[in-house]
Amino acid sequence: MAAARLSHRMGRLLEKAPALGPWTRVYSTSPAFAEVLRLPQKQLTKVCFIGRSNVGKSSLIKALFSLAPDVEVRISKKPGHTKKMNFFKVGKHFTLVDMPGYGYRAPEDFVDMVETYLKERNNLKRTFLLVDSVVGITKLDNIAIEMCEEFALPYVMILTKIDKSSKGYLLKQVLQIQKFVNTQTQGCFPQLFPISAVTNSGVHLLKCFIADITGSLK
Ligand code: GDP
Repeated sequence: MAAARLSHRMGRLLEKAPALGPWTRVYSTSPAFAEVLRLPQKQLTKVCFIGRSNVGKSSLIKALFSLAPDVEVRISKKPGHTKKMNFFKVGKHFTLVDMPGYGYRAPEDFVDMVETYLKERNNLKRTFLLVDSVVGITKLDNIAIEMCEEFALPYVMILTKIDKSSKGYLLKQVLQIQKFVNTQTQGCFPQLFPISAVTNSGVHLLKCFIADITGSLK
């Protein structure tokens, strides 16, 4: 079922690719995206991290929380979801939801589980989509982007492993991805967050951004 939907999405993506013209960018004005940003605050605010396997998601989460003593980790208790979705409760402020990596080694029910979660978006304030800065946006990343766009989820792109490239190559990659975000997306935050979990470059700025959007910046 999940595999069928994934291949359906893949098929749609491949059909769509040549026809992709520049989309109108309405990040701050689209009613659908704006509605998500005004979600009620009954539950603890959530942000979620998604990305393909090996993109550097676990390393980044570790880098974000390495100096935070009040982080409580919980594994999803939903049947069949064990060890697939992790919840990091950050004090009384917010919960970071770590989604299973997609692509190579992805759990079979990834599409069903992630789609369902993102559709329900229980107080989900922002989705962080991780892209490997060395590799650039892959077909699988495109499926995740398509999903965020389709569900009108406000999302932010994080470029991982920036320590691995020369400055020239990194600049070329960043400019290319920035052009994609500006012309092919509606819900993606216009600023990219390039980071390295090895040198910690960009991690502090990302922490401040998360603190700001979750309302935990004092
Ligand atoms: P995940 O599958 O997305 O959770 O990816 P991991 O965090 O396990 O990282 C996958 C591989 O990339 C591991 O070998 C990490 O050591 C490496 N890695 C992750 N982040 C970085 C980074 O910022 N710089 C470099 N050079 N390697 C990284």
